[in-house]
Amino acid sequence: MQDHQRALLLDRRCAWCAEPARLGVLLRGEACEHCGRTSPSADATELEGVLGAVQSKWKAKRAWAYGGLAVGTLVTGWFPLVSSLLMVATLIYLRVALLRQPMNWFGPARRFTARFALRMWLLVVGIGAFAIAELSTFVPFASAPLKAAISVASIGLFTEVAVAYLGSRLRREASEDPSLQWHEWALPAGLLTILLGMGAAAAAVVIAIVKLLSGVMP
Ligand SMILES: [Zn+2]
Repeated sequence: MQDHQRALLLDRRCAWCAEPARLGVLLRGEACEHCGRTSPSADATELEGVLGAVQSKWKAKRAWAYGGLAVGTLVTGWFPLVSSLLMVATLIYLRVALLRQPMNWFGPARRFTARFALRMWLLVVGIGAFAIAELSTFVPFASAPLKAAISVASIGLFTEVAVAYLGSRLRREASEDPSLQWHEWALPAGLLTILLGMGAAAAAVVIAIVKLLSGVMP
């Protein structure tokens, strides 16, 4: 398959006539209703090729994302909040620029659960890394390099896991039985539970600090 055909498929269009195509045409070898031809992506090896296109897009962006974030964090890391906000902005950018397009290939139910799961995953990684990075402000002399390492590690973790997850769901969507599996519901629900736990822990810490301060101050 040629690159422009892959680009069309990623855009949910027929690789031959560029008309919008149904999922069955893209993934399961049904004939295009506009030109009657079958998509080259229905072949298992070509599905890997299209998945590879998403992965190579990430590979091309990866060096820039890591490098830019590392430099930005080293420059701003001596101040509280700025570098953490930079990291969160990068996470959201990658979520939109990289992970939205492959979601085109899912049916409505899977698109809902995958979007929900990625959103929860973004929050878990984002809030977790944010808290660790802000705590590292208290490490003398090393806070900026520490924050740079935390930022780069967190966007790497978020994106690698998300790309792998979308790949596995895409293979399922293209398989003979594309129905939702139980864990596609359980995963976002589990991540939501983790988030609520993180929220409760943060609230407990704040309450403890307030109690401590009110005890110290008459
Ligand atoms: Zn067509």
